[in-house]
Amino acid sequence: MPRPIAAKLNLSALNHNLNIVRQHVGTSKIWSVVKANAYGHGLARVWPGLAATDGFALLDLNEAVLLREQGWQGPILLLEGFFQPPDLALVDHYRLTTTVHSDWQLEAIRAARLDAPLNIYLKLNSGMNRLGFPSEQAEAVWQWANSLSNVAEVTLMSHFANADNHIGAGEQFARIQHVSEHISAARCFANSAAILRHPETHYDWVRPGIILYGASPSGDIADIAALGLRPVMSLHSEIIALQTLSVGHSVGYGSHYCASEPHRIGVVACGYADGYPRLAPGGTPIRVDGVLTHTVGAVSMDMLTVDLTPCPQAGVGSKVEVWGEHLPIDNVAAAAGTVGYELMCALAGRVPVTVQRS
Ligand SMILES: *Cc1c(COP(=O)(O)O)cnc(C)c1O
Repeated sequence: MPRPIAAKLNLSALNHNLNIVRQHVGTSKIWSVVKANAYGHGLARVWPGLAATDGFALLDLNEAVLLREQGWQGPILLLEGFFQPPDLALVDHYRLTTTVHSDWQLEAIRAARLDAPLNIYLKLNSGMNRLGFPSEQAEAVWQWANSLSNVAEVTLMSHFANADNHIGAGEQFARIQHVSEHISAARCFANSAAILRHPETHYDWVRPGIILYGASPSGDIADIAALGLRPVMSLHSEIIALQTLSVGHSVGYGSHYCASEPHRIGVVACGYADGYPRLAPGGTPIRVDGVLTHTVGAVSMDMLTVDLTPCPQAGVGSKVEVWGEHLPIDNVAAAAGTVGYELMCALAGRVPVTVQRS
């Protein structure tokens, strides 16, 4: 028997979530963001669940080539653009839409010998201060891009730093609107959080990532419950051993947890080498035999330990849901001081994955 841990991916949940996003954004077109190997789900496994999208956005050229080789003929957007001028040969050959965030990229496009002009996304820095032209240069850069015979369509793009929190997208959005007032181009601004909370930013194209996978951009599960989004990934394991602790007994490395009354604990075949966050403190939620309980003690490489007080019937072989259908990944992430994004992306290669289509 293999070790009893496995991740299940529900492709119909992916398709369901895409439909919900589509209803929510009306006529805006959708770039389904599948960077980072589809947020850890496996690009090759899950893209068919999103085949009704208008385009795929990612940032690794290899992932773009993989999508083409697997038969996707629609648009593909490179979110960080190309990394060196020679990459343009691939961008041209595979008909990729590239983000352009710096002068050198426009200059490289100007100088390249291409089969056909490229569609580009002109990235404007409206306050995130990572990628993008200074927003006050918007008009000049747009004119430059438009003047190049190697450039076909130009779309304006920007990215919000605070669409998921109380600061909001207002200030960045106002800046971008102001500097692009006289630019007649399509616009693409909204990530998941802006899709949910700032409908005025939707425009021509939106870029949902995390909500397609059924998790929240803010960590607040109210976000996803309100729309009826469904989790795509469920991580399951089993209890492989039991211990009964007496008062004063501790468990695991560092003996962080110490029993204040006698109780049973279960040892689960899941540890940080599977992608479970090592820093998740005791008290992190987990489900055993369909019952909500919590971890106790430190997370090890291959195991973690759970309190079986709420589930006295549980024994060796009892099913454990680490996160997924009945336990939002956001709740596990919040307890561990991180975000659902990181947990998904960290799912380890050693965890077997099964794909459910219905
Ligand atoms: C990752 C990313 C997104 C998607 O973000 P979510 O919060 O997962 O919706 C959108 N746009 C850009 C530029 C990104 O890098």
